[in-house]
Amino acid sequence: MIQPGSLSLFIHLLINTYHNVIKKYPIRAFSCMVVLVVASIIIINGRAAVTNSLKDNNGKILGEMTYKCKPVKEAYSDKKIILRLDDIQAFAYSEISQMMIEDSISRKMKLVLGVIPYNLTQDAFITNVLKKNNCNLELALHGWDHSISPETGVYEFEDMDEAEAASKIKEGKSILEQIGGQPVVTFIPPGNLISSSTKKVLKQEGIKYLSGDTESSIYGIDATTYDFQSKKLNDNSDILNKCDERFSKNKFCVIVIHPQDYLTDDKIDEDKYSQFINLLDEFRNEQVLSITFNSL
Ligand SMILES: [Zn+2]
Repeated sequence: MIQPGSLSLFIHLLINTYHNVIKKYPIRAFSCMVVLVVASIIIINGRAAVTNSLKDNNGKILGEMTYKCKPVKEAYSDKKIILRLDDIQAFAYSEISQMMIEDSISRKMKLVLGVIPYNLTQDAFITNVLKKNNCNLELALHGWDHSISPETGVYEFEDMDEAEAASKIKEGKSILEQIGGQPVVTFIPPGNLISSSTKKVLKQEGIKYLSGDTESSIYGIDATTYDFQSKKLNDNSDILNKCDERFSKNKFCVIVIHPQDYLTDDKIDEDKYSQFINLLDEFRNEQVLSITFNSL
């Protein structure tokens, strides 16, 4: 409600403005009013144009959830691979991650992404990449923030107790499910190392697949694109041989990939990246089927 005091003050100001400004400088006052009216019209029209640009042909406002993801159709094959792309996260390796995701999908290959949930919803770029492609991706939980203890060098879930593991897995899952729109059923422990307490809580948190190191999980690593010891990319022929060995036993082949291994001095390294593209093309030539854990 307008108070009587403030109303009389407003009228007083109006009369003062009339006598001291409008009456003394009528042309300037008129010019100011014209400028104000024109500016208001421009602002109102601008806002309407922005709102219209966010609408589709039916006038529906395009929100984040209106992305149309087209599922890839792959021919059936006995040779199955899982492309596990780890360390997808907020505010790091965004461009290379997007390229790897989209170049795989354009070759009709699905991916399992090891996603670090910490701060993820703050990063609109990477969340949009994940949402846009969600029907061809499985978002697997890759720890909480992927931290390593500076004192002991122990990985995040390597030595964690049950209560902390349950709470971090619950929260991480909820972030990934909000973005991916499907239940999270796979856990990839950072460094592939997991405490026995964490293992105990996986089932109660709805995790069906643990993809860690080969000793601790049946969905472990069959091949990697990078060798941490020599700090070099592995030859594609080695990866293909390892997978052929798995195929000969009627088993699928899990290939672990990291986006950062295709950078040099934080920039995309075209030579290294072409090796990744060649690997995808070699798999396509071999007519393998790329699957995800959640489709097993
Ligand atoms: Zn990792």
